[in-house]
Amino acid sequence: MLSISFGAATDTGAVREVNEDCMTAARGIAAVADGMGGHAAGDVASHLAVARLEHLQDAKTALNPDDLLAAIVDANGDILDSVASDRARDGMGTTLCGVGVVCVGGVDHWIVFNVGDSRVYRLNDDVLTQVTVDHSEVQELVAAGLLSREEARVDPRRNVVTRSLGTDPAPQADVWVFPPTPGERFLVCSDGLTLEIDDEQIAAVMRSEPDAQRAADALVAAAVSAGGRDNVTAVVVDVELPVDHSAVETDTAPRSELQSRGDVS
Ligand code: CA
Repeated sequence: MLSISFGAATDTGAVREVNEDCMTAARGIAAVADGMGGHAAGDVASHLAVARLEHLQDAKTALNPDDLLAAIVDANGDILDSVASDRARDGMGTTLCGVGVVCVGGVDHWIVFNVGDSRVYRLNDDVLTQVTVDHSEVQELVAAGLLSREEARVDPRRNVVTRSLGTDPAPQADVWVFPPTPGERFLVCSDGLTLEIDDEQIAAVMRSEPDAQRAADALVAAAVSAGGRDNVTAVVVDVELPVDHSAVETDTAPRSELQSRGDVS
């Protein structure tokens, strides 16, 4: 399996009293859930969603994309059951997005999954791109050409999500599956981060701070000091690809010479 290192940080922010974000980063999965609902019910919803992914992290065998999709459906059911048992939780829900390792055709791949307006970004060759597409009213306006990306960040409708967990029928999760690339890095974050700092500021931290934990800490600190109007969560994922020793065989120099130069370990 891919060797992954994580850094994770979360903060209630400067305004809210409860942190309704929840995150997990272990084994092959990093995810963020951003809960919504009165009476701290959002906190219940986001924890229920993350609990289903933590169950997957305990799996003894390699995961496949269907395992992830089933866990998201199960998490949705858990939230509906919780509402049914306590009507004070009526209307509670959560976003859920993240990146994980799945086995496809016997080979490790990334899976990026998303329901709602938390995000997964990917840094590759110093270029930051948003992998996920927000399920939000303002994203639909951006797609229609009626708002710019920058206008969407500050539009009063930015909090309206068009897809979330806690609905009947269960929401359809967006999924992307692709092979790993050496040197790439991911960020999973709640909208409390992207509300306060823009993509260029995020990219600057992701490029300049090689340690995943320090990068996550710096991103959350930047969002809180920029206003911290919402809960802020960031998980940074780094991957170490195994060194391909077969590449040495393509070198035309005699083996003894390579060894004497210290190129072969
Ligand atoms: Ca939020």
